[in-house]
Amino acid sequence: MPEGDTVFKLAAYLGPALHGRELLPDSTVAGARATLAGRRIGEVFAHGKHLFIELDDACLLRSHLGMWGSWHAYAPGEVWLKPARQASIVLDIGERVFVCFNALQVEVMRSAGVRRRLLGKLLGPDLLQPSPRFDDIVTRARGLLDGSTPIADVMLDQRVATGIGNVYKSEVLFVGACHPRAALGELSDDALLGLYREAARLLAGNVGRGPRITRRAMDEAGELWVYGRTAQPCLRCDQRIVSARLGRRQRSTFWCPGCQPATDSAQG
Ligand SMILES: [Zn+2]
Repeated sequence: MPEGDTVFKLAAYLGPALHGRELLPDSTVAGARATLAGRRIGEVFAHGKHLFIELDDACLLRSHLGMWGSWHAYAPGEVWLKPARQASIVLDIGERVFVCFNALQVEVMRSAGVRRRLLGKLLGPDLLQPSPRFDDIVTRARGLLDGSTPIADVMLDQRVATGIGNVYKSEVLFVGACHPRAALGELSDDALLGLYREAARLLAGNVGRGPRITRRAMDEAGELWVYGRTAQPCLRCDQRIVSARLGRRQRSTFWCPGCQPATDSAQG
């Protein structure tokens, strides 16, 4: 599943390939009436899990890959690996065609200032940007969510902060010694700040090439602390890692009962 660091890498890859290029008539956005043909591409950037492609008429093409979306690059005339009906975005720049398949959301955004509005309201601070506003993240979490919300859900809420996906959620909570069912209202501001600082640190360590790594010990035990390690021994305390589908959307969550003790609201 694409997390913040993946979308960041995607923007870094697509940006140089697309910047300044004119879109040919085959270029389309699913569900959008406006034609892309003849428009020139500006900046390509990521914010959290959203990818933005600027067009020269002050529009922004926003996409969110969700669980199943992916971008492909093809040579002209090359057979696509997925059916054309699954194409959410087609950007034809002549010598290559970039196709986004099965995106969760695609949208051409029109109004002036939309970028500022979107970044300010819809999405929380991007943990991949230098010096995210951590105090703002805490304010958003307290303001947007009920105190009973489990921290596992808080971490995934992109209105609070953008960039944390389901893998990092479990990893950050392990590193922060926080039980995934702990309620937001039980956590101090300092504890929350600590979790988001840790998330930013882990995400920043993964924006280069290579696999996603949250653990950097020089051994063969693996690159993740808990994610995907159900019933395996904890790499810190040797207790068995447990997992469950937790939270509003029942997302897989992994934790160590030894390193992440249950709080009052996190029994069981
Ligand atoms: Zn442990």
